[in-house]
Amino acid sequence: MKLRTLAAGLLVGALALTACGKEGSPGSTDPVAAQPVAADVQVPGSATFDRMKQRGRVVIGVKDDQPGLGFKDATTGQYSGFDVEIARLVAAQLGFGADKIDYKTVPSAARETTIARGEVDYYVGTYTINDNRKQQVSFAGPYFVAGQGLLVRSDETAITGKDTLKGKKVCSVTGSTPIQRVRSEGLTEPGNIVEFQTYSQCVDQLLSKQVDAVTTDDAILKGYAAQQPDKLKLVGQPFSQEPYGIGLNKDDAALRGKINDILQASYTDGTWQKIYDETLGKSGSPASPPALQRY
Ligand code: GLU
Repeated sequence: MKLRTLAAGLLVGALALTACGKEGSPGSTDPVAAQPVAADVQVPGSATFDRMKQRGRVVIGVKDDQPGLGFKDATTGQYSGFDVEIARLVAAQLGFGADKIDYKTVPSAARETTIARGEVDYYVGTYTINDNRKQQVSFAGPYFVAGQGLLVRSDETAITGKDTLKGKKVCSVTGSTPIQRVRSEGLTEPGNIVEFQTYSQCVDQLLSKQVDAVTTDDAILKGYAAQQPDKLKLVGQPFSQEPYGIGLNKDDAALRGKINDILQASYTDGTWQKIYDETLGKSGSPASPPALQRY
């Protein structure tokens, strides 16, 4: 049974990987905080920005199945959520309006290679800044700090926090920091860790009782719980710090500096707050902008 679950997970994962990397349709043209598009922007020394200028469009890596953060409406094809709004804000300040954005869905496990290969200009999708990833990419930000949490079915009583997972099947995503933490802290047995390419696949597994819990950032889990509050709930306290960064080419210090300036201005002038309040903040957790880490 365990083997079957694993095999099914790998198969679905492989399918998800082949599905990823397709260009998204042009994005929504009605951002939450409609930004005036900056004119005559210069980012001296940025190869990525030169490439964007030449193309006349910006390619942004996102998630498309994380409600409240990065979500693509299947009917309208429009993207919404906090990450998407941050991505649009940066694009506008770099001189690219919402009609000049191409979204590319990139799952957690493919982020470093996709950025390093230049297949996206930058990436905004619940991407935790850490030293391991900094060997391959660089980060602007953080623009938010989440914490690892647990999602269970609403009738669950045995799982109440991270120390109650032994003997339970726990689902998370390949290449994510939460699955690494489940392993390194031994929160459940290796045979009980179920791995997919996306969190929505894990949530489907939870609803169909193939797994007992889904673990990742609380911000992501709250989005799923909000969609089906009668069936899903979060339990326990957050047990990590996940500072979200905008991923970009490792050598493009000029673009990183520029994006940090854009973020800092949005923290100061209230734009970040407006974006947060109208997206993630709607799930009832107030937040204010984090301190930037320039490095
Ligand atoms: N923030 C965590 C990470 O970057 C989990 C969410 C995700 O997989 O995007 O690994």
